[in-house]
Amino acid sequence: MFNLNRPIELTERLPILKPILKSRLFQPALMMITLAGFTLAILTGLLGTPAGNRNFGIVFVWIVWWGLLILVLIPFTGRAWCAACPIPAPGEWLQRRGIINRTRGRLSSMRWRWPRRFRNMWLQNFGFLSMAIFSTIILTRPAVTAWVLLGFILIGIVLSILYENRVFCRYVCPVGGFIGLYSMVSPMALRVRDPQVCVDHKTKDCVTGNANGYGCPWMLYPGKLERNAYCGMCMECIKTCPHDNIVINLSAPGGDLLVAKERKLDEAYKAFIMLACALMYSAVLLGPWGWLKGWANMNTLPHWLLYAAGFLLVNLVGLPGLFYLTTAVARRLAGQQAPTKRLFIDYAYTLIPLGLAAWVAFSFGFVLINGSYALATASDPFGWGWNLFGTADAPWTPLGSGWVPFLQTGVLTIGLLFSTNIGYKIARQHSQTHQQAMRALLPLAGFMLLIVLIFLRLYLG
Ligand code: SF4
Ligand code: SF4
Repeated sequence: MFNLNRPIELTERLPILKPILKSRLFQPALMMITLAGFTLAILTGLLGTPAGNRNFGIVFVWIVWWGLLILVLIPFTGRAWCAACPIPAPGEWLQRRGIINRTRGRLSSMRWRWPRRFRNMWLQNFGFLSMAIFSTIILTRPAVTAWVLLGFILIGIVLSILYENRVFCRYVCPVGGFIGLYSMVSPMALRVRDPQVCVDHKTKDCVTGNANGYGCPWMLYPGKLERNAYCGMCMECIKTCPHDNIVINLSAPGGDLLVAKERKLDEAYKAFIMLACALMYSAVLLGPWGWLKGWANMNTLPHWLLYAAGFLLVNLVGLPGLFYLTTAVARRLAGQQAPTKRLFIDYAYTLIPLGLAAWVAFSFGFVLINGSYALATASDPFGWGWNLFGTADAPWTPLGSGWVPFLQTGVLTIGLLFSTNIGYKIARQHSQTHQQAMRALLPLAGFMLLIVLIFLRLYLG
C-alpha cells in the first residue's frame, strides 16, 4: 500500500536502475545525444531558413524540448533534465580532461573562488528576466536563438576554466534556476537512505570523490540533502558512496517546500518572477491585445522600452508588492508572531505549485497546437528542401485544440488546490492552532484564486 509519508525507494523496486546510474557511460551518453541536437539547433539557427516554424532550432528548442521539460520532466522527475543537459558538457569535460572514466588528480581549472555574494539565485533571476524581456524575439528568430544557445555554452566553458565544478549550473544558468525551483514540487528525489550512515562515515567520499567518481560537482553534501533545488542528478554520489547509501525516492510531491530552514529571499523572488512571467507571456501571446504583442515584438524602440519597463515593474515590484500586502493581512488576521518579511519569504513558497501549473497550462496552449511542425523540421532541419525521413511535407495539424481550454482549467485548478494545501502547511508552521493557520490561509488563498481567475480570463476569453 502507498503510504504518502514514507518514500518509495525506486532504486530498490527497480533493481536495473542502480547499475545503470552507477555506470560511468550513462551520463556522458545522454549528454552526447543532447549535445548533437543542440549543435544542430545552433547550425540551423545560423544557416537555416529564417521562418521559425520551418527551422529545427526554433521548433525543437522552443516547442519539443520546452514541452518535454515543462509538461513531463520537471513535474515528474524534478531536475532529471540537468543530468542530460549539453550546456555544461564541454566545460566539464575540459575540467576533467576526459569524458567517461574518472581521471586522476584534481579538476583542471584556475580555481578562482566564486564570490560569496553570488552564491544564491539572484544572477539566475536577473538572467531569466533579461531573456524574458526579449522572449518574443528569441522565440521567433532562429538566428537569435542560435546566438543565445552559443552564448550559454561559451559562458559554461569560460566559467569551467576559471572555477571548479558546475558553477555555471548552480549559480548562473537562467534555465537551471527555474528548474531548481519547480523541481521541489516533483515526487522524484535523490536522497540518502540512512542519514546516520553519513554521520558515521568519516571520509565523505561523495564530497571528496574517489576512484569511482568525482566529488559532488554541484558543491553539495548529499548526506544532508532535503530538497531537490540544487541537486543536478549527475549521479556521481551514487558512484562514489562506498556504503551504497544514495537512493532515488518517490515521495509525496511538494514535501521540499516544507523545509523551513532553507527558505530564502532569492528563491522567493524566483517564485514571483516565474509566476509573473507566465502571466505576462499569456497576456502578450494569448491575450486579445494586438498592440501589446507589437510592443513586445519591438515594433518601435520606444514601445519596446515601455513594454520592458512595465514587464520589470510587474515582476520585481507589482506582484511581490501585492503579495507582501497579502502576507501582512494574513499575519494580522492570524495574529502570527514572525516578522512580516519572514512570512513574506515563507509564504512565497506556496506560489511554487501554482506557478508550475501556470507554465504547464500556458505550454499546453502552444505545444499541442504547434507540435506537428516537428515532423516537417525533423526531415528538413534547415528548411533547404531536404526530406530525410519522408515527413518534410507533413501539414500543420493542431492537436486537441478543442480540449486545450479544459486541460488548462484542470491544471490550474490542481495547481490552486496544491498551493492552498502547501499554504496551509506553511501557515501551520507559524501558528499555534489549526484555526490560526486557517485565518492566515484565507488571504493567501484569495490571492491565488485571483491569479487563477486572471489566467482563465486570458485562456478562455
Ligand atoms: S559517501 Fe555515502 S555514506 Fe558517506 S557521507 Fe556521502 S552519502 Fe553518506
Ligand atoms: S548530490 Fe549527487 S546527484 Fe546531486 S549533484 Fe551532487 S553528486 Fe550529483
